[in-house]
Amino acid sequence: MIPVEEALERILSYVKVLEREGRPLLETLGQVLAQDLYASFDIPPTDNAAMDGYAVRAADTHGATLSRPKVLPVIGEIAAGHPTRKGLRPGSAMRIMTGASIPQGADAVVQFEETDEVERKATGKPLTQIGIGREAEADLNIRRAGEDIARGQVVLRQGTVIRPSEIGVMASLGLARAPVYRRPLVAVLATGDELTEVGRTLPQGKIYNSNAFSIAAQVRRYGGIPRVLGIARDTVASLTRKIQKGLDADLFVTSAGVSTGDYDMVKEVLARHGEINFWTVRMKPGKPLAFGVLRQGERRVPHLGLPGNPVSSMVTFEMFARPAILKMLGWRSWEKPYLMAVSQSRIENKGGLRLLIRALVERRDGQYLASPTGPQGSGILTSMALANGLIVVPEEVALVKEGDPVKVLMLDWNQGQGASQ
Ligand code: AMP
Ligand code: MG
Repeated sequence: MIPVEEALERILSYVKVLEREGRPLLETLGQVLAQDLYASFDIPPTDNAAMDGYAVRAADTHGATLSRPKVLPVIGEIAAGHPTRKGLRPGSAMRIMTGASIPQGADAVVQFEETDEVERKATGKPLTQIGIGREAEADLNIRRAGEDIARGQVVLRQGTVIRPSEIGVMASLGLARAPVYRRPLVAVLATGDELTEVGRTLPQGKIYNSNAFSIAAQVRRYGGIPRVLGIARDTVASLTRKIQKGLDADLFVTSAGVSTGDYDMVKEVLARHGEINFWTVRMKPGKPLAFGVLRQGERRVPHLGLPGNPVSSMVTFEMFARPAILKMLGWRSWEKPYLMAVSQSRIENKGGLRLLIRALVERRDGQYLASPTGPQGSGILTSMALANGLIVVPEEVALVKEGDPVKVLMLDWNQGQGASQ
């Protein structure tokens, strides 16, 4: 039996960051920047107004108050996106909108609310003059060129995980594409004579192939591109054919067929295509796990053989396949987000394994409460659907009492409701 950390470490030692490529900006969400990005111009590009108001020279507003406004002639109007060459003469004002470039000669913007514009407009006469109702200091309501990003500066570092804010920053630099590490192509193969594809009538004694879907969905959620290869029957020919269809992938995930009770055939066929190791990982669910490398000529594809039980399959994916995908994407850490919660049940851990108990975490009275979502059999997939996290009971802890603090790996941050609702 090997500990979870050792299994993960061995798997990751076979996994490399993928090549870089340029992708359309919006498609890079969750990918990782493959180079530093520099600004080739200032952002904002020009000094501009932070408020709708009047561009003035601060010196011309000296002594102005709301009751004794300083009256200046209005010599023009500047809308956002319509810069003017006309400068501001001393002793005058220009009406200006938020985001519009500040005219030459102006060094402050007084917002409408601090002028007598409303009263003047009420008279129905054209606005040829404006009363400035406050003394403006230089720079008032002006956003300076380069105050967000200065030309030449590194804006985003290589290794940054791209979120909506990074996408926005890259768009503000005018980039239509971003340099990122490629998304891994992940082959997903279910094995078993008992499996039927969804959408068909279920024959006697068969079950639907749900694992291929939960696995493919996990691949997509964590940023990979799933390629579902369908079902391999428990025959050498069927399995061999299916494996060959996935050898151009970056990671090959199979479901079932590798536990102790299974026909040796599956193991044998996998071994014939490369090397394979069978591990008993010190965790529950998910004890049996296969890891190896499939070979085709020079190509080597890491292979992860997940257990067939639907819950074990999903949980081992979270623990081992997810970090592998994130590493290929260029992520530098893959620890799952967790929180400390109060266990709402007694949990026994007799086998000295790391238990991962499907649980619903809810916040109540400023505390997180974690309740197991029903029977923990590794075939009970609905208890996974009701859960938003996994309570971790360490190997050396034989008993968690009701009210004990527990660490919960979060599958979702969805609080108060099952993730399926
Ligand atoms: P195995 O790992 O082949 O011993 O399978 C363990 C359990 O998982 C058995 O009850 C299988 O029927 C079930 N199982 C295997 N593959 C799938 C699958 N693709 N979808 C749903 N259940 C599966
Ligand atoms: Mg089987």
